[in-house]
Amino acid sequence: MAYDFDLFVIGAGSGGVRAARFAAGFGAKVAVAESRYLGGTCVNVGCVPKKLLVYGAHVADELEQAAGFGWTLEEGHFDWGTLIANKNREIERLNGIYRNLLVNSGVTLLQGHARLTGANEVEVDGQRYSAEHILIATGGWPQVPDIPGKELAITSNEAFYLKDLPRRVLVVGGGYIAVEFAGIFQGLGADTTLLYRGDLFLRGFDGSVRTHLKEELEKRGLDLQFNADIQRIDKLDDGSLKATLKDGRELLADCVFYATGRRPMLDNLGLENTGVELDARGYIRVDEQYQTTAPSILAIGDVIGRVQLTPVALAEGMAVARRLFKPEQYRPVDYQNIPTAVFSQPPIGTVGLTEEQALEAGHKVQVFESRFRAMKLTLTDIQEKTLMKLVVDAETDKVLGCHMVGPDAGEIIQGLGIALKAGATKQQFDETIGVHPTAAEEFVTMRTATR
Ligand code: FAD
Ligand code: NDP
Repeated sequence: MAYDFDLFVIGAGSGGVRAARFAAGFGAKVAVAESRYLGGTCVNVGCVPKKLLVYGAHVADELEQAAGFGWTLEEGHFDWGTLIANKNREIERLNGIYRNLLVNSGVTLLQGHARLTGANEVEVDGQRYSAEHILIATGGWPQVPDIPGKELAITSNEAFYLKDLPRRVLVVGGGYIAVEFAGIFQGLGADTTLLYRGDLFLRGFDGSVRTHLKEELEKRGLDLQFNADIQRIDKLDDGSLKATLKDGRELLADCVFYATGRRPMLDNLGLENTGVELDARGYIRVDEQYQTTAPSILAIGDVIGRVQLTPVALAEGMAVARRLFKPEQYRPVDYQNIPTAVFSQPPIGTVGLTEEQALEAGHKVQVFESRFRAMKLTLTDIQEKTLMKLVVDAETDKVLGCHMVGPDAGEIIQGLGIALKAGATKQQFDETIGVHPTAAEEFVTMRTATR
């Protein structure tokens, strides 16, 4: 049977664009439908604008440190409107780049909501298209618990477009987004409280990292409240919001920001017209090659709920394009040792096993841990400490995990990700010459195991 397209991609986000471009480059006839914004979450309401706001917040640190280096600055003034307008301009530029990337690769770009009408058929704005393969790359959407007053809260989607910087913010959640946005709001001058329902935020991260970040955020004056959760939100006559906690306490704020995870974006996708099944958590069920339970339909990225990171969606998109249209170049995605950063203030960089995971997996673990005040701070009054930690298998000497909290942690951990992928041992770390004077050299100079 002749199809309109070899591959029809639903969603022009990180994964969809990568799959579409490469499939077209391999000679396939490809269409992409996008209902909202080119580049998806990462470019529009995720990684990119988030990092720009983090940079903006970080300027406050530089200004605070300036006096120690002899600079006298007049009192600074921050204007949220300027930051958001400049950020929006940059995002528009990136949207244009994504459009060019797709069009120049020969991909047919359809602007509109796509709905599956069969195992090989998609409808966009009343027009039906057939395709041999369909790729669902529709990403995710913020999820807010169903509490009275939830409509008064905002999520990351809205935070990027707030007209003004709120004076008092309650951030709810203890994952990547909550910690990052708490740093953004606080760094830019808002009176910020982070509420997390458990004992300690960033579940799943290394225990030393979680404790260290908690201490550093508290030093910066962030109000961290653990074992705290909101029961209801009410709007008061003066426009401010009252959050009533489950323990009965009442907190006042101008903005309640929820970062309590993301659900797969399946709205009006027409899955009922196909044999595509969901897994127990509600994400699209796929096999090792991203094939759903309907053989002609594949799915990648946040919508399959594996590892919700842009570079992972990119790798999955690439794997699908290769498997379908360049099988001789196909390589499965390696989900081991994925480096990641939390752009908190200070940031976290991490790759490999946490100490807890290594112990649980039965390794005999040696831990090397170092806490120090970065050289840059020695001429200032700032007492922030950097944490570096290596988790090593005592029997094989293999480095199982590298963890850091401190300036440039994301930049530093990328290189260590290569070392772990190559299977580096602690001895090889020790034999690597340091770059002096840097913070990063500490990763190759930690000689004595702390446990
Ligand atoms: P998306 O990028 O979400 O793309 C899905 C696209 O599909 C969207 O454009 C959507 O409009 C479109 N779509 C949905 N349904 C339809 C339909 N029916 N028809 C047509 N189009 C449709 N990851 C990192 O690695 N580093 C970071 O620093 C980072 N920061 C983040 C910060 C925030 C605030 C958030 C929310 C996420 C962040 N992420 C980060 C995660 C990252 O953005 C996602 O993992 C990544 O975007 C997933 O890519 P995707 O292709 O699966 O989906
Ligand atoms: P996460 O899944 O990382 O964290 C969700 C947080 O909300 C957890 O602390 C969770 O608590 C808490 N939570 C969940 N449900 C509730 C509830 N009903 N009431 C109160 N608290 C609740 O989600 P995020 O929204 O922070 O981010 C989504 C994903 O996006 C991340 O996991 C990450 O993959 C990606 N991302 C990556 C970034 C990066 O690379 N720098 C930055 C931002 C996002 P508990 O732990 O107790 O379950």
